[in-house]
Amino acid sequence: MDQPGVTAEARKNPWGCVGPTAPACPLTEVMSEQLATQLEEDNSSFSALTGPEVDLLLEDGPDTTSDLMLAQMLQMQFDREFDDQLRREERKFNGDSKVSISFENYRMVHPYEDSDSSEDEVDWQDTRHDPYRADKPQTTPRRGFSRKGKNITTKHDEVACGRKNTARMDNFAPEVQVGDGLGMDLKLSNQVFNSLKQHCYSEQRRSARLHEKKEHSTAEQAVDPRTRLLMYKMVNAGVLENINGCISTGKESVVFHADGGRLEEEPVPGEVVLKVFKTTLNEFKNRDRYIKDDYRFKDRFSKLNPRKVIRLWAEKEMHNLSRMKKAGLPVPDVVLLKKHILVMSFIGKDHVPAPKLKDVTLSSEDMKAAYYQVLQLMQQLYQECHLVHADLSEYNMLWYQEKVWLIDVSQSVEPTHPHGLEFLFRDCRNVSTFFQKRGVGDVMSVYELFNAVTGLSVPVGAEDEADFMSEIVALEKRNEDHIQKRGKKSFPVTSEDGGPPLKPDTDD
Ligand code: ADP
Ligand code: MG
Repeated sequence: MDQPGVTAEARKNPWGCVGPTAPACPLTEVMSEQLATQLEEDNSSFSALTGPEVDLLLEDGPDTTSDLMLAQMLQMQFDREFDDQLRREERKFNGDSKVSISFENYRMVHPYEDSDSSEDEVDWQDTRHDPYRADKPQTTPRRGFSRKGKNITTKHDEVACGRKNTARMDNFAPEVQVGDGLGMDLKLSNQVFNSLKQHCYSEQRRSARLHEKKEHSTAEQAVDPRTRLLMYKMVNAGVLENINGCISTGKESVVFHADGGRLEEEPVPGEVVLKVFKTTLNEFKNRDRYIKDDYRFKDRFSKLNPRKVIRLWAEKEMHNLSRMKKAGLPVPDVVLLKKHILVMSFIGKDHVPAPKLKDVTLSSEDMKAAYYQVLQLMQQLYQECHLVHADLSEYNMLWYQEKVWLIDVSQSVEPTHPHGLEFLFRDCRNVSTFFQKRGVGDVMSVYELFNAVTGLSVPVGAEDEADFMSEIVALEKRNEDHIQKRGKKSFPVTSEDGGPPLKPDTDD
């Protein structure tokens, strides 16, 4: 049947010329191999097309023919997504904290592999021309001038010098903003350049000072980032379950309460304290004499920088506590020493620290009992542990389970320390004064107490403190000479070899 309407329409197609339609063929032919080959041949003729979109598709498209390649591409995509998630977690974890923890090691794709995906990495190897970098200024040859025909340029040439100065701004510290000056043909006079340089140096010094202060000082309440990291590490290692809060901030230390965990499979006491020795050095300066004249630490002291000296304080407290513990004195148990952090058992219960003797209200019997306990403690400390507390007062004695406990023994020294007896005398005075004030009857005088603790019989006489002190100083001197003569670093206070040197001289 003739269809004139259709043919007429095909001729005047408004969309332009329609290509030849494939001739209709029976199904059997479509299926035939011959047709398949023909179609393939027709298909290959498409490669002759060179439209821009075809280029795009063919040229840079990744090769997806290999299954291995596809798998690797998928894996790469997966790894990148994993890393993105890791970055988000890292950011969330670190927040505004001064100490940040890097998850870098957990990333699947390392920066050099992942050259096209890192949105926040600086391309530090980019060596392309930087429009703001000044071209290298022409240098003057060794002979001090260059010549171009008749024109001689010396190294003092104003223009050359100015340009050179501009280029030298590039050497300023990275945080110094030099603006776009480097990219211009700017000539800086020597005077301007020098004052800029001077300003830049002083700024750098100032910012270094600020940085130092911020990073290394143990703030009144908090601790510095390094200390915090050490504390985190203890929690991570399972030594501590939890760090709860600050019990005290003194001049020399910050004390935290923590829940104990396990240390080398041994349980740590349920409640512990972390005594963090402050890393601000000022407070320790006037305490040098407690440590540098202590023969146990003398040799090491001189070789150490101030920061390490602070670790020595923590170490000293640990040694002194252990020595006291051995003699059965009521002191905290040492758990662990990590640099300037000493972990020890908590004196108190359920997060409530035992009160200091100064803060506790005791009945008169209890107060009297406390006094006799302190007497005995001082004697034991001196005679058995060969130690003088050197900061003994109602501030460093705790009242717990009807007992007086000694704490804060970092400054304790041996009686043979050049000032050991003076320290002891001061301790005796603190103790006598405190118990007298609290109304304990029959409190010994400071002189009697001193003799009772040491077992010496320094003449009390008219009870003139100056006389008593000069006796004590003379004893210390004799002691020092004795040590020097024998070339010994120490000797027992109750000496079997040649009589006790700590004996008041009755000859003179
Ligand atoms: P500082 O040298 O700063 O005086 P201390 O060792 O005296 O340091 O500790 C300060 C305070 O912390 C103490 O007065 C006490 O209240 C508390 N404290 C210290 N050690 C312990 C402990 N083992 N158990 C309970 N409280 C403690
Ligand atoms: Mg104290």
